[in-house]
Amino acid sequence: MCITLCSGDPTMYEKYWQQMGDKTKVVINGWQFISYFSDVSRVCWFLEPEFANSIIRLHKLVGNAITEDRYIVVGTGSTQLFQALLYAVSPPNSSEPISVVSAAPFYSSYPLITDFLKSGLHKWAGDAYTFDIDKPYIELVTSPNNPDGFPREAVVNKKQGILIHDFAYYWPQYIPISSPADHDIMLFTVSKSTGHAGSRVGWALVKDIEIAKKMTEFIVLSTIGVSKDSQIRAAKILQVVSDSHQYKVDFKEGQAFFEHNYNHMARRWKQLRDAVNMSKLFSLPDFPSGSCTFSGRTFESQPAFAWLKCKGEIDDCESFLRGHKILTRGGKHFGGSEKYVRISMLPRDETFDQFTERLSSINSS
Ligand code: PMP
Repeated sequence: MCITLCSGDPTMYEKYWQQMGDKTKVVINGWQFISYFSDVSRVCWFLEPEFANSIIRLHKLVGNAITEDRYIVVGTGSTQLFQALLYAVSPPNSSEPISVVSAAPFYSSYPLITDFLKSGLHKWAGDAYTFDIDKPYIELVTSPNNPDGFPREAVVNKKQGILIHDFAYYWPQYIPISSPADHDIMLFTVSKSTGHAGSRVGWALVKDIEIAKKMTEFIVLSTIGVSKDSQIRAAKILQVVSDSHQYKVDFKEGQAFFEHNYNHMARRWKQLRDAVNMSKLFSLPDFPSGSCTFSGRTFESQPAFAWLKCKGEIDDCESFLRGHKILTRGGKHFGGSEKYVRISMLPRDETFDQFTERLSSINSS
């Protein structure tokens, strides 16, 4: 049977949330959330106040982003927020589309999303390391990075750059939190923080009111807001995450969210490294160790994806693994080499166990 690890579907988190039982139950009656509007005094008037409060509380607890003097814009996943940002920061009357770049290997959806409508506003211009034009540009900085898991900073560093920081994975189960991120435009999502990808909710923290207004305009034009049902559910989930750390007496031992999932990721990375050592055909990146201001622990990153390299003669790692019924996404999709594949570290336990068992048994014979 094929083991599918191409997408980053975060089903690993189901087990934790099952253990939480009724704590996260949300009941919505038929008369509730009928209106398009949430809070007309906000720039983003379809943002539910309960969701906004839960976002601020969680960032303060974790210490991974500054929320003061920022506008919160909610989106249907950070995918919609990324599109809203491209619309909001591209010069509206330029004679040519603005270049959008990201350092390779980059998240494979960036080029596709940037270009799929063949917009006159923006165009994908590839690897930021090779971008050398003195014109305005947008650089996407994903830290820690999808697919390779390394912490990232902007690489172009020219005057006319607009930076979008994608912090989908800047959470303490994946990487030591070094300081609260303090950038002009920052993206977050429940998909990879709590695992609720199916709710399709993300948020942007934005300094400039004009950018927040234009993002809101984009979301109004594309979907007239963001599902309130989803925002209310996401608010509840984020509240329980914070409660699990701040009111530990109400939770069982070892059930604090980031603690529990840090341990889960640590076990998985050890299991994967053991399998890679057994097989001898592959290698994995080594991550620097850092001290986490949230947990007080010093540890090496344990990313949501493994950027696996096929050693020696194997040039097309994706095809090689497909031959062993392991489905991954090849390096080419990320602007990288075919010797690499990206493997999701967030499937259910059964799938992950089958995967490491199969990987460890692949050898050169
Ligand atoms: N940014 C990055 C770096 C991602 O890896 C993902 C999810 N794969 C997204 C954004 C999209 O997240 P969402 O589900 O919130 O649209």
